Amino acid sequence: MNEYKLFINGEWIAPQSGESIISIDPSTGESIAKIAKASALDAQKAIAAARRAFDAGVWSALSPEKRGQALEKIAQTIRSHAKELAEIESRDTGKTIKQATFIDVPTCADTFSYFSKIKHELEAKKLNIVAPVDSKICCEPVGVVAAIAAWNYPLIFFGWKVAPALMAGNCVVYKPSSVASLSIVRVFEIIADVLPAGVLNLVTGGREVGEELARSVDVDMLTFTGGTSTGQEIMKMASVNAKKLCLELGGKSPNIVFADCDMDAALGGAMSAIFMNQGQMCVAGSRLLLEDKIYDEFIARLAKEAQRLKIGNALDYTTEFGPLISREHRDAVLKFIDQGKKEGARLVCGGKIGDVADFDKGAFLEPTIFVDVKSSMAIAQEEIFGPVLSVIKFSGVDEAVKIANDSKYGLAAMIWTKDKEKAENVSRSLRCGTVWINTYGGFYNEAPFGGYKQSGFGRELGVEGLLEYTQAKHVCRDTTPGGKSLAASWF
Ligand code: NAD
Repeated sequence: MNEYKLFINGEWIAPQSGESIISIDPSTGESIAKIAKASALDAQKAIAAARRAFDAGVWSALSPEKRGQALEKIAQTIRSHAKELAEIESRDTGKTIKQATFIDVPTCADTFSYFSKIKHELEAKKLNIVAPVDSKICCEPVGVVAAIAAWNYPLIFFGWKVAPALMAGNCVVYKPSSVASLSIVRVFEIIADVLPAGVLNLVTGGREVGEELARSVDVDMLTFTGGTSTGQEIMKMASVNAKKLCLELGGKSPNIVFADCDMDAALGGAMSAIFMNQGQMCVAGSRLLLEDKIYDEFIARLAKEAQRLKIGNALDYTTEFGPLISREHRDAVLKFIDQGKKEGARLVCGGKIGDVADFDKGAFLEPTIFVDVKSSMAIAQEEIFGPVLSVIKFSGVDEAVKIANDSKYGLAAMIWTKDKEKAENVSRSLRCGTVWINTYGGFYNEAPFGGYKQSGFGRELGVEGLLEYTQAKHVCRDTTPGGKSLAASWF
């Protein structure tokens, strides 16, 4: 079994405790690798390395062009290892090999390429101020950035966080999820020589490492993707030095289907929105709001589609629906299914452990659909983070909007209708960071992504996602002879 260390200050080092975490393939239940289990002390070493590199200016003092070139090299390196990385990602997380190949790996590489080219936004901008001053805004890196990620899209989060942080001139300590670190460790191996020592460090491990990163006074900014309750804990710890935060948290996104939709398209969208990545998506369309006129027909067709999905080993190219990340997570999802039944929702398909021949140690679960769900039920309010759809009936636009906004979350929403004006009006009324109209899951490097309400704050991707990792400095020079115009001549 392969064993992996920590990458700190340009070197692979063993964790101080000598302990490791076993990576499990959720399709087979097999142990596939040993990952170093870092402690708070290891996290401190990584933070110190990033601090030294930042303070020495080995990265921040380079021009954006030079930093961009390094980012593009990272993108190319990832592309040249695409097949291997897709296989690792699929084995380690249970996402289908098709998805890892066509979405996760290319998205990661493309995000590095995208940020490598945004330079203009990082240049100083002269201000038009009436006073006799020469005034400019400089866009500076925040300093040492710690990044903590969730397990559902390891490679994509790496790109979304590391590419803009590095492009802006920061030095980074990266912590992937302890249940999905393998692809990230491999990426560190293949890009080890691209950056100066200390600029990008890797600490694998769990809560203890995350807490050290959140608490450290030497970390200037923390970018986090994970659950809302973890985000809330991080906010408290991060207050110790008022560090800058970007929090990408949970979701319970409404997928609103009006009777005047293109039903085939809406069905396809509803399937992707809840069953892609086995529903383990922050933007899962886990609440399906169906207009009363099409309620029965839509449900019948959707249940048929869900039952048709081919469940199996994630590494098999014909598999459409892999296992969940772990058996522990599956147990948590099954508890929600029990709760849904107890609350009186009607199960129309799934609800059981998935039976896959020759893979009885896997973490499979059948695609599950509950109908006649009330918005007050736990399965309509809580983030299940699995392939469990809660279908709620509505009548008319006002009720759809009311139910859609009846959530502590505000990450994304989908609207299906042929009426353009209705779609625009509804999209304005929804309190969330992304609205997809007649489509689902379009992420573009140019388009900022992030939450409203308890789905977090701050944005990833786009120019906004780059500027998160910068701070504005106003530099103002008096241009009057003898410097008489401002405070210098007050008295
Ligand atoms: P999690 O909150 O349990 O863990 C996320 C990360 O935080 C992991 O790396 C974990 O080791 C670390 N961590 C755990 N406790 C910590 C603590 N006390 N201090 C510091 N770090 C700590 O979440 P998860 O189970 O890995 O991921 C699922 C959650 O992530 C879901 O709620 C999902 O909606 C959310 N998510 C959000 C987005 C988004 O962009 N908004 C994207 C994907 C996932």
